Amino acid sequence: MGLVRLADTPLRGLNTFGIDARARLLWRLESLDDLPQLHQALRDDARSGHPQPPLVLGGGSNLLIADDPQQPIVQMALRGIRIVGDDGKSVIVQAAAGEAWDPLIRWTLSQGLAGLENLALIPGTVGAAPIQNIGAYGVELRDCFESLDAINLVSGTARSFSADDCAFGYRDSVFKHADGENWLVTSVRLRLSRTADLKLDYGEIRAELTDAHIVAPTPTNVADAVSRIRRRKLPDPAVIGNAGSFFKNPLIETELAAALSAREPGLPCWPSGGQVKVSAAWMIERCGFKGMRVGDAGVHERHALVLVNHGHARGSDILALARQIRGAVETRFGIRLEAEPMVVGAAQL
Ligand SMILES: Cc1cc2nc3c(=O)[nH]c(=O)nc-3n(C[C@H](O)[C@H](O)[C@H](O)COP(=O)(O)OP(=O)(O)OC[C@H]3O[C@@H](n4cnc5c(N)ncnc54)[C@H](O)[C@@H]3O)c2cc1C
Repeated sequence: MGLVRLADTPLRGLNTFGIDARARLLWRLESLDDLPQLHQALRDDARSGHPQPPLVLGGGSNLLIADDPQQPIVQMALRGIRIVGDDGKSVIVQAAAGEAWDPLIRWTLSQGLAGLENLALIPGTVGAAPIQNIGAYGVELRDCFESLDAINLVSGTARSFSADDCAFGYRDSVFKHADGENWLVTSVRLRLSRTADLKLDYGEIRAELTDAHIVAPTPTNVADAVSRIRRRKLPDPAVIGNAGSFFKNPLIETELAAALSAREPGLPCWPSGGQVKVSAAWMIERCGFKGMRVGDAGVHERHALVLVNHGHARGSDILALARQIRGAVETRFGIRLEAEPMVVGAAQL
């Protein structure tokens, strides 16, 4: 236990795309007590002229490693879940950033706490959940977020972030922007409820519950239903490398959406915070990419939004395919797609 240092270490097993890259230097942080030592080690590395800032790694399920990372990697391995507040109605659960997300949900359900059930089976760690404000089946992390603790890996400063400080948006937060860079999230607090307010109207949740003959669902029933739907629909990274949705659904102005829908009948659109969200998967499919394969880089045959590694694709192969898709969508629809995963390396989308 403690701070583990690994030099020239393989990353293939540490990213769900299964990209066969190597890390020059990786620090695995297993205890908060080791933060001063980590900070000193990072300063020494910077003084030796190595590129910075460090890259934070959780479960590697929202990353595309395009080149061997030359900056040091900090792998988050802090563990621990506890209840830190209870007013009889809502309960604050604090989880260390290295805890796995889905097991945390199962723990909260076992305590009779509702709120996270629609986010079941999203891969990755607790610490990464606020970075892109993870979301699924009509719920986002921000709906139950209370606050988080973080350490700045460059300055060494520690601070807490409220929901407002995090500036959550659709698959977005302050941590994805220049003024929120270099923060290592160490723990996250979630406000959960003893009484369930179930959100069943998204996707196939209701149908799944009906098929299971459940008329008065509990939060655990919903988490199970969501997990079954996800297992059926999404490719398992253990079978075929992927990082879930590769592109975000673009948000566009209402007038542009109306004009596009008139020109492209069937384009799925839905209102979102005064703008309109349009289906990236539909546009990619229309451009003919669904199921396409270029070497070992591909687009999943059932999910136009999911790019896959059929075996030995390099990060640059996936990136090249992503660029091709983005170019075709922009030419046909006039909309520029944005990547959802973080692209690691000098080359960007
Ligand atoms: C099959 C599949 C399905 C998915 N479905 C969904 C979905 O439904 N909804 C959804 O929102 N996402 C989904 N994802 C994406 C991914 O699971 C989430 O974004 C998840 O939160 C990433 O967690 P991670 O620990 O793997 O993060 P990583 O991939 O390791 O890191 C992602 C980003 O967060 C940063 N980061 C990680 N940990 C920390 C930390 N402790 N402090 C600061 N920064 C940190 C990294 O530097 C990087 O920028 C899916 C992915 C896969 C493979």
